[in-house]
Amino acid sequence: MAAGADVDIVIAGGGPAGAAAALTLAAHTTHGVLVLESSRYDGVRVGETVSPGIRPLLDYLGVTARFLADAHAPGLGTAAAWGGPVPVARDYLFTGRGDGWHLDRERFDRSLADAVVERGARLRTGARVVSVSGTGPYRIAIAADDAGHDGVEHITARFLIDATGRSASLARALGARREPVDRMIGIVGFHTLDPMHSVERNALIEAVPDGWWYSAPLPNGRIVLAFMTDADIARRERLADPAIWAERLRATDCTAARINGAVFQPELRIRSAASHLLDPVGAPGWVAAGDAACSFDPLAAMGIGHAISSGIHAARAAHNFLQSRGPILDEYIGHVAANFRRYLELRTGYYAVERRWKEKTFWKRRSGKGDE
Ligand SMILES: Cc1cc2nc3c(=O)[nH]c(=O)nc-3n(C[C@H](O)[C@H](O)[C@H](O)COP(=O)(O)OP(=O)(O)OC[C@H]3O[C@@H](n4cnc5c(N)ncnc54)[C@H](O)[C@@H]3O)c2cc1C
Repeated sequence: MAAGADVDIVIAGGGPAGAAAALTLAAHTTHGVLVLESSRYDGVRVGETVSPGIRPLLDYLGVTARFLADAHAPGLGTAAAWGGPVPVARDYLFTGRGDGWHLDRERFDRSLADAVVERGARLRTGARVVSVSGTGPYRIAIAADDAGHDGVEHITARFLIDATGRSASLARALGARREPVDRMIGIVGFHTLDPMHSVERNALIEAVPDGWWYSAPLPNGRIVLAFMTDADIARRERLADPAIWAERLRATDCTAARINGAVFQPELRIRSAASHLLDPVGAPGWVAAGDAACSFDPLAAMGIGHAISSGIHAARAAHNFLQSRGPILDEYIGHVAANFRRYLELRTGYYAVERRWKEKTFWKRRSGKGDE
């Protein structure tokens, strides 16, 4: 147990990466683990399409039965109007691994968090890590409603896992830097579908001059619609204005056709969807996992799978570090960087297929021809 510290391992962030790390540590080690999660799992969460490839990861974490009981919507694959106006479908059927899913994302994250508690790790919600100091043991400042003095309290930990998502706030407090590749954001809205109107159970991607649209049917008769573009383009074109966003939506071909009859709920959420690699991804005493370590263009639909698998590997690295055994931490850091390089090649390939708006800023930036 934690010699010279309050707890062995603090995990900042209880999203998929943090939960996967906590579940792995709870199942395979005796370390004292505390997950600090700033929310109370009551807000809207974004990012919902997962391929059948997620299943072995859920099996490893021992959460498949609860995942299936949560009744997420089946996902049959992705259709993309990309490089031309007619959508081309890629069904999971031909992977031989079964269907994927469109998640009720709030339920998914909450359910993983419930499993963390059931397996004996400590989870504290409404607790935001605000700063960290030291070199191990680390001193962590937590802002929480239920904290005593000034709403801030301190704890010490021997090892830290940063699973705070794209903000990588813990790693940055320790001196790491995010190396962004682009400035992509998602402007996200939810529609309630007309019960008389059936929607195909696939994700749909549609390229447009200033970016691309993504839509996917969700459980409970809803559909998520996201306009993916760059932050500066969104500002210039005022795309986060619900009226302008809806106008752009109506101007699409396949996406607008698919929501015919839907009830528009105009509250939009803006989320960073920028690709980045953290430098460094870890050091003796701490490691980043999930989006904190590196993040991907949602076009790749890799985020949740990567978050879970990197959470599992970060847990292994933490355990080995505390046992003073082997080079696992370095291997993990090298693996994340290599994975990110492979992803960048994939990303270049994806964007090279769409050539209809090569002179438009969004597409020019992704063709290697630089900015305007
Ligand atoms: C528009 C959009 C669409 C996407 N679509 C998909 C998709 O279809 N498929 C897919 O696989 N991925 C998708 N993604 C990516 C996916 O959502 C992420 O990769 C995934 O959520 C990463 O999980 P994570 O656990 O690393 O981080 P997060 O899910 O961001 O979780 C981080 C957690 O840390 C908490 N936190 C943050 N700061 C602190 C702090 N200081 N102290 C304590 N807690 C903190 C947060 O409340 C949160 O619970 C999409 C992303 C965007 C933006």
